[in-house]
Amino acid sequence: MTDTNDPLHGLHLDTLAVRAGISRTAEGEHAEPIFLTSSYVFDSAEQAAARFSGEESGNVYSRYTNPTVRGFEQRLAALEGGEAAVATASGMAAILSTCMALLKSGDHVVCSRDVFGTTINLFSKYLAKFGVTVTFAPLQDIDAWRSAVQANTAMLFTETPSNPLCEVADLAAMSQLAREHGCLLVVDNCFCTPALQTPLSLGADIVVHSATKYLDGQGRCVGGAVVGGAEHMNEVLTFLRTCGPTMSAFNAWVFLKGLETLRLRMDAHSRSALALARWLVEQPAVEKVYYAGLEDHPGHALACAQQSAFGGVLSFRVKGGRDAAWHCIDATQIMSLTANLGDAKTTIVHPATTTHGRLSDAERAAAGITGNLIRVAVGLEHIDDLKADLQRGFDTLP
Ligand SMILES: *Cc1c(COP(=O)(O)O)cnc(C)c1O
Repeated sequence: MTDTNDPLHGLHLDTLAVRAGISRTAEGEHAEPIFLTSSYVFDSAEQAAARFSGEESGNVYSRYTNPTVRGFEQRLAALEGGEAAVATASGMAAILSTCMALLKSGDHVVCSRDVFGTTINLFSKYLAKFGVTVTFAPLQDIDAWRSAVQANTAMLFTETPSNPLCEVADLAAMSQLAREHGCLLVVDNCFCTPALQTPLSLGADIVVHSATKYLDGQGRCVGGAVVGGAEHMNEVLTFLRTCGPTMSAFNAWVFLKGLETLRLRMDAHSRSALALARWLVEQPAVEKVYYAGLEDHPGHALACAQQSAFGGVLSFRVKGGRDAAWHCIDATQIMSLTANLGDAKTTIVHPATTTHGRLSDAERAAAGITGNLIRVAVGLEHIDDLKADLQRGFDTLP
């Protein structure tokens, strides 16, 4: 890892985001090219044989390697501080590939109760079919995680901060727990991105991403990635080559360019979200605001310790019930009513009837997803316009 001959060694994240993962062709292009090719030609039958046997390194087929995809992988690995990264077709493909590569029948996983809904389905519906059992534990309660660990626990899986209530997991404590039990800590770093948080530096073994969100940053492509040590990434890569959920070269190019502005965007998202959260606290129509940047949020101290800013997602409860929340959402004119996030465009959604709609009433109540809760993923518009947009909503309330 500490290759001091590497010209990128020791450079800052902002520089790596622009400079890592570049390999120019003989054309001398400045911007990264898109290699839209499914396969590659060989100079001779002998070379083809050497490439296929692995004797000679080089491209064979884009399910195995693609230069644009490799560029994105190298750049993301540099930002996360990992030895290697593997790009995947989506965020879910990243999580699936990690599990398929590193778990086996009979293994047990402890997973945060507050992860992305589809991640819960992946563990409880599909991995269960192959003999991997799972226990869900509350994100912040490290004692609950400790007692959930069994002799066959092979992986702890978490996501922090949580969606939509912005709860924060103590990654150093969790990696300590993983060490004690000889299992892996896998962190979904989608909400913070390496611009705000690097789980590997806190002791996590593997980071997974939905590149669809902030890595792209402009809502164009679906993609994902896994980052970690070379040995683990080799296993993930072997799964990918065999089973096929690889990233397309075009999408890799979009993400590669997205990374160049990641820090600037994450700083802007975080700044606006904090300003909006503080403004919301003052609004008579608002009952409670959830954002780890607020001093009275239970995860505030931890977020200050392990994140460099608080990210772009916040949620709040309006006074009244579901109807009040729906009226508020429907009155906005600028914000996009969509469940996606990590976009230049601010998005607004009603979690109880969309992202968390499949939970039972009891599960929703336990997760704190009430009918009057609204989630906003703050984009890059001017903060005053966003406030005015929400004000339109509050004006509809009695
Ligand atoms: C969106 C999301 C995913 C899934 O990613 P896709 O790219 O949609 O497959 C996983 N984790 C988190 C935290 C997400 O927000």
